[in-house]
Amino acid sequence: MISFADGGLDGAQATKNKLKRRLIFFIENFDKFLINLIKIQDTTKRYDLHLTQNYNSMEILKTLIIGSGPAGYTAAIYAARADLKPLLYTGMEPGGQLTTTTEVDNFPGYPEGIDGPTMMVQLQQQAERFGTEVRVGFINKVEFSKEPGGIHKAYAEDGTELKARSIIISTGATAKYLGLPSEQRLRGGGVSACAVCDGFFYKGQEVAIVGGGDTAAEEATYLANICSKVTMLVRKDRMRASKAMQHRVTNTPNIDLRYNTEIDEVLGEQVVEGLRMKNNQTGKTEEIEITGLFIAIGHKPNTDIFKGQLDMDEAGYLITQGKTTLTNIPGVFASGDVQDKEYRQAVTAAGTGCMAALDAERYLQSVEDLIEA
Ligand code: NDP
Repeated sequence: MISFADGGLDGAQATKNKLKRRLIFFIENFDKFLINLIKIQDTTKRYDLHLTQNYNSMEILKTLIIGSGPAGYTAAIYAARADLKPLLYTGMEPGGQLTTTTEVDNFPGYPEGIDGPTMMVQLQQQAERFGTEVRVGFINKVEFSKEPGGIHKAYAEDGTELKARSIIISTGATAKYLGLPSEQRLRGGGVSACAVCDGFFYKGQEVAIVGGGDTAAEEATYLANICSKVTMLVRKDRMRASKAMQHRVTNTPNIDLRYNTEIDEVLGEQVVEGLRMKNNQTGKTEEIEITGLFIAIGHKPNTDIFKGQLDMDEAGYLITQGKTTLTNIPGVFASGDVQDKEYRQAVTAAGTGCMAALDAERYLQSVEDLIEA
């Protein structure tokens, strides 16, 4: 068993150092945080304005977009430029998963990188520039028409009924967490569900990752390039990842692979300081020192409200036809992580958002005669 005093620093000093590092990061990025705060306040003000508008429930929208990640906003930019006058509902987490990340370094066009919340505000502004109406709100029920050219209905949580000829679904997916109280307390304090987003902050440090699928394997090898050591916890005696990915993990010298191992508790008050793990075969526990914990146990697509109406795979991801964003319902399109468990990148989500808007535009043109008849 490794105690916290083993590294040469006592526990209190180590915690102080970690807090100091985070404080420096915060001070260095204070201007960005401030800009975001102002923009978020601005969005909230505009939301108040939207609420006071007297929405005409008789109006039939050309395009309703549900979701505000890179897919939803890109769909909105293209739909608005095609004069589809889109209305976009942001969902519970305006801006989507990227607003929970700090720096986005892999989106083309940002040579210096950009922080996730700023990028999402800019995407929103770009969508609004062409006439998209953005509403902060949650759609909790839909009724799709099966007829080509038919009217689809969606209901917001405040009771607003919306009618639209086409709907683009970009509701994304949510990373799964273990559900341990210590893990939840330390989310944002060293617990992350995205190694590609946050791994950089743990450069040269010791981290751990949970999961045995392709994501965990891929992220473990990614982290191993940045961090001094990666402890990988797999709850079974085997990994679910493809053989090639398993091979990469076992051939990476600084990945310490532990089978039959689960987390008992994440240690640390304000930030992650360590982990107590348990071998589920022997019951033996062990504590290790780490500064970051990555959870890679899968994602849950946000598709509950579409169950029974849209075709989904066994995991709940929406099924689209061939290389298009068409679902099984005419006039309903899916883009972004809600239909993609493979790539899940901001840039791929944005790409399918563009495709969905083009598909919606073509669909509306194709049913024009039916609507006018
Ligand atoms: P998976 O569902 O494939 O794997 C999840 C992993 O997390 C499994 O090892 C599972 O263990 C483990 N797990 C689940 N719940 C817990 C828990 N509570 N505690 C500990 N461990 C847990 O998800 P992925 O995100 O890895 O992959 C999703 C899909 O995306 C897959 O089809 C995958 O192939 C694909 N993908 C492909 C990539 C590529 O080709 N480059 C990259 C990334 C993903 P157990 O096995 O015991 O259930």
